[in-house]
Amino acid sequence: MDQKDVKNVVIIGSGPAGLTAALYAARGELKPVVLAGLNPGGQLMQTTEVENFPGFPEGIMGPDLMENMMKQVKRFGAEILQENVIAADFTKRPFMLKTDKGEYFAKSVIISTGADANWLNLPNEQKLRGKGVSACATCDGFFFKGKDVAVIGGGDSAMEEANFLTKFANKVTIVHRRAEFKASKIMLKRAQDNPKIAFALNAGIVDAVGENTVEGLKIKDNTTGQESVLPVQGIFLAIGHTPNTKIFAEAGLEVDAKGYMVVKNHTHSNIEGVFVAGDVQDFRYRQAISAAGMGCMAALDVEKWLAEQE
Ligand code: NDP
Repeated sequence: MDQKDVKNVVIIGSGPAGLTAALYAARGELKPVVLAGLNPGGQLMQTTEVENFPGFPEGIMGPDLMENMMKQVKRFGAEILQENVIAADFTKRPFMLKTDKGEYFAKSVIISTGADANWLNLPNEQKLRGKGVSACATCDGFFFKGKDVAVIGGGDSAMEEANFLTKFANKVTIVHRRAEFKASKIMLKRAQDNPKIAFALNAGIVDAVGENTVEGLKIKDNTTGQESVLPVQGIFLAIGHTPNTKIFAEAGLEVDAKGYMVVKNHTHSNIEGVFVAGDVQDFRYRQAISAAGMGCMAALDVEKWLAEQE
């Protein structure tokens, strides 16, 4: 193969991890290629205000932050391609990545494909998806002006989404399967203090009710077993995420029981030359800033590793 066709590093994913990796790799003159997916920018594209990314004292909108990162990366010559990786071969070098448009060969790879929202697999869930059932309050909240909605989950996402939804909805009920919360105290308190938010605790989810549009949420009291229907027109799931690692696991990369990439020495996968950064390996912190930090680390590790190969 013509060595000119082999990239120094291909970065898969374009959230804070991927773009920070691209920034460092580009400034390190590695001429990185970013396979950004069909909807570049990652999870922050579906967020409103980000208050905890340092450097923005007044906060910044998630999509604006990602657009800034994209501009910054392009300034240093990284190539960003809107393509989805559908298969990978890490059994020989150069590594091969197949996208929906072609094949790319690389001396090294950084995987930063993030994680996606989980669904509950209720009988009516997929039928009513987009008709009242959603996993993204910031995307769909606007459609619930003056309506009553439920948010499922007891973590920070559920609190954040519930608060956000009160901008539009008449009433938001947080439905949680336990009486204790995973959410941080500050986020929980914000929700508890919001007069538009109610709580249904110890509540199992039975199904979404409705034929063509959501008319209710059937829940079961986990202490008494009694079923009831919450009369809501919207159901928002906020029950965690699954990392995007399927094709990499199939290609021989090690993942844990929940599908997260296993790393050693911060960013190294089990295959030499393949590095990992961001939520795809991080179920613990899951912050834009920690993902960006890992992107930086992965790019520096790639730079060092490539130098060692020569
Ligand atoms: P979490 O894993 O923290 O919470 C998921 C919630 O969904 C839990 O309460 C869990 O219940 C519930 N759940 C999971 N599966 C089911 C199920 N099958 N049926 C019913 N309920 C279910 O995920 P989050 O997305 O909330 O948060 C992920 C990470 O992102 C956290 O570290 C969080 O702090 C962070 N985050 C930070 C934000 C911020 O700082 N602005 C905003 C949003 C998220 P149970 O508690 O019983 O397990």
